[in-house]
Amino acid sequence: MSLFRSVEMAPGDPILGLTEAYVADTRAEKVNLGVGIYYDEQGRIPLLDTVREVEQSLAAKGLPRGYIPIDGLPAYTKATQRLLFGADSSLLEAGRVATSQTIGGSGALRVGADLLKRVLPKAKIAISNPSWENHRVVFASAGFEVEDYRYYDPATHGLDFAGLLEDLGKLESGTVVLLHACCHNPTGVDLDTAQWKQVVELVKERQLLPFIDIAYQGFDQGTDADAQAIRLFADSGIEAFVVASSYSKSFSLYGERVGALSVVGASKEEAVRVQSMVKRVIRANYSSPSTHGGSLVAGVLGSDELRGRWEAELGAMRTRIHALRDGLVERLAAHGREFGFIREQAGMFSYSGLSKAQVDRLREEYAIYAIGTGRICVAALNQNNLDRVAAAVAAVTA
Ligand code: PMP
Repeated sequence: MSLFRSVEMAPGDPILGLTEAYVADTRAEKVNLGVGIYYDEQGRIPLLDTVREVEQSLAAKGLPRGYIPIDGLPAYTKATQRLLFGADSSLLEAGRVATSQTIGGSGALRVGADLLKRVLPKAKIAISNPSWENHRVVFASAGFEVEDYRYYDPATHGLDFAGLLEDLGKLESGTVVLLHACCHNPTGVDLDTAQWKQVVELVKERQLLPFIDIAYQGFDQGTDADAQAIRLFADSGIEAFVVASSYSKSFSLYGERVGALSVVGASKEEAVRVQSMVKRVIRANYSSPSTHGGSLVAGVLGSDELRGRWEAELGAMRTRIHALRDGLVERLAAHGREFGFIREQAGMFSYSGLSKAQVDRLREEYAIYAIGTGRICVAALNQNNLDRVAAAVAAVTA
């Protein structure tokens, strides 16, 4: 008899389950707004020209595939630091940032969580309500008690800033606070500069440990503007914080698993000690990251010419998302529906305010798939499906 006989079936991932239902749907006009991927106007995942060029030149060289260092390719981690903290960052200058290449942004979160569990075993973590579902899963799996802080206000489709401040203000000192730097997943609701400044002050006063997740840098206003939270924490005098970053979206390299964990310490010497601990965590998990995706990103960011062209390619994705937001709001307005808040939200996602029952009707009657919470992926809209989606949303909200 098998030793696995009592293993129970784990619950399926709700988003992947939705995609399966979408794939099985035979209606030609179907639209999947449930995804977390940027699709182009033709409904394809783009391969950026800059990535293609680096890939072709790497292929032509036929390089051997030895192991890379535990904390990744130095060209990759250096370029990542500059993108996150700014090329003229005083923290970088002082050697206070320890960065490792990780298996996607998810890997950065997990390595960061394992690291913090080792060095601060009693700390809890607070995440926004709502947050990306994996935040809870990753930190709980690493042994953390996960708390919520208020974030989204359904009444305004915007930020519950008073609730956020009140909840952060009540956290025990030493608590880790997970903050989305920009393009909040799932709501699309972000803090403005003045609000970030208040949060930075509060975090400092309460002696909390900021853990910033930046998975959509460049998807709202640009690579520098979208990193403002990191830059404000860097300038705040707070001695220690953590950044998990991902290139999955900004380089359209989802399956290459390109991310990074950056840990800021009080001094260069502290950063070196922290990095030695990060390497132990990585070693115990997957030993070292993979070569290909990291080489692509390092190749693009390592050349001024390619980096400039990548910024333009990323800019085109961002501009298109803004246009899709406008297009949806305008079409809904033409149906007499007021969804202006979708324009205020940022990044790939929007909490549309649609109820579970309305989302069910969209799927059943119109073959339009969205998450039960009402989250839609704006980047899955295009000029071919906008009219239909707007008409269907108007119909289910009648
Ligand atoms: N953080 C957030 C908020 C995300 O939405 C995602 C991806 N959906 C990630 C991290 C992880 O990204 P990756 O695919 O690089 O693991």
